[in-house]
Amino acid sequence: MNALTDLGVAAIRDGVSAGEFSAREVAQAFIGAVEKARGLNAFTVETPDHALAAANAADRARASGSLKPLSGVPLGIKDLFATSGVRTTAGSRILEGFEPPYESTVSARLFAAGAGMLGKLNMDEFAMGSSNETSAWGPVISPWRRSDGGNAPLTPGGSSGGSASAVAARLAPAVTGTDTGGSIRQPAAFVGITGIKPTYGRCSRWGIVAFASSLDQAGPMARDVRDCAIMLEAMSGFDPKDSTSLDLPVPRWESNLSSDVRGKRIGIPKEYRIKGVPEEIDTVWERGIALMRDAGAEIVEVSLPHTRYALPAYYIIAPAEASSNLARYDGVRYGRRVHPGNGDLTAMYEATRAAGFGAEVKRRIMIGTYVLSAGFYDAYFNQAQKVRALIARDFERVWEKCDYLLTPTAPSAAFALGDKSADPIAMYLNDVFAVPASLAGLPAISVPAGLNEQGLPLGLQIVGKALDEQGVLNAALALEERAGFTARPDAWW
Ligand code: GLN
Repeated sequence: MNALTDLGVAAIRDGVSAGEFSAREVAQAFIGAVEKARGLNAFTVETPDHALAAANAADRARASGSLKPLSGVPLGIKDLFATSGVRTTAGSRILEGFEPPYESTVSARLFAAGAGMLGKLNMDEFAMGSSNETSAWGPVISPWRRSDGGNAPLTPGGSSGGSASAVAARLAPAVTGTDTGGSIRQPAAFVGITGIKPTYGRCSRWGIVAFASSLDQAGPMARDVRDCAIMLEAMSGFDPKDSTSLDLPVPRWESNLSSDVRGKRIGIPKEYRIKGVPEEIDTVWERGIALMRDAGAEIVEVSLPHTRYALPAYYIIAPAEASSNLARYDGVRYGRRVHPGNGDLTAMYEATRAAGFGAEVKRRIMIGTYVLSAGFYDAYFNQAQKVRALIARDFERVWEKCDYLLTPTAPSAAFALGDKSADPIAMYLNDVFAVPASLAGLPAISVPAGLNEQGLPLGLQIVGKALDEQGVLNAALALEERAGFTARPDAWW
């Protein structure tokens, strides 16, 4: 394997700038890795020409002394981001063949910063899922395998499963993800990489296929905290085309990185100690607590009393918004159309949506329309909105006692494909530690913190105050330095 694929974002940027290798060599190395790893099903479309064109531009920019922050860095883009002229399906048959005539703001910013695109990354259909098994294009396979025999293919998590596998298997130095209720953090934890969901509104949602608009946020997934900081800086910023975009300057997260957490107070929420969670999760959490204490942070036990209502509230609010957002897929405006052959418009809608959406998406649309229906709106949707407000208030109160929270990212290590696909509730439980920060719109990161007994990665989550990405990144860097996670999967694919 070419060693260039072992490099992350900062190393590529610095190496291209120093002339140690050309951007073209880097792009070629990753393009080769992507081709070799097709068995992982991480990419839905490969765009080597895009990556090479950006690399050539980067090499010319070096010669003329005009390198940009991501010059020479080839990226994978989750298939939820509309990419101009490049097939964008959100993992769904209903968008089969759709080539947007426009570019999402986030991908446009990355390209404007000099990055190229290796391809579009597989994902759960419309980002609904925790295992990548709801993708119309088949599940993504994790590059990790259990060390205790049994070669059952594992999930890379979801919904950004293609993103996770691509980074873990060294098919891209960094990628985009999106997180509505954990879809950056849980897959990052499952494959031993780092992923941050910024404060709601930091990254423009314009051109990102909508799932649940009040929760959806873009963010980077990469090998380490520094690379996430570099990526997030390029992705963030005010966009007048998204009415929920924050009109604030983008901080210099990378240059202000510091792992000095002396005197910081790290809250351990007692409600996150959930019965039935395997002991290995507790063990890695305790390890993280000890590492942060060694780093000079003060550990305080805190309470977020409404935590247990977060998951049920999320699984009312997210489907409600999804049912409304997905109403636009009617066979008229985008993608696929199925003609029942009788000339009836309603029958065309029905046939298109029946054939175009998968089972999980249909389930969410059914739940969403039910909780929004006149007879049940107050009992479910309104009630869930009130719970959401209480959860946000829990966090506001907790910041009087601590600067960040440290929790597990997911309630287990990666599971085998097929293990939970028949049981939606078991699948939804994956998000138990991730959704509270989503409901409150707070920045949260997952950092790999150790391996379990089967040699699989486990992640820890750091949640911070709104707009305090710097604090979250710094605390994550402190954890990363002390956890010393260097494990990587054997290249069997
Ligand atoms: N797993 C969660 C869901 O299925 C979260 C998905 C996401 O964050 N996009 O809704």
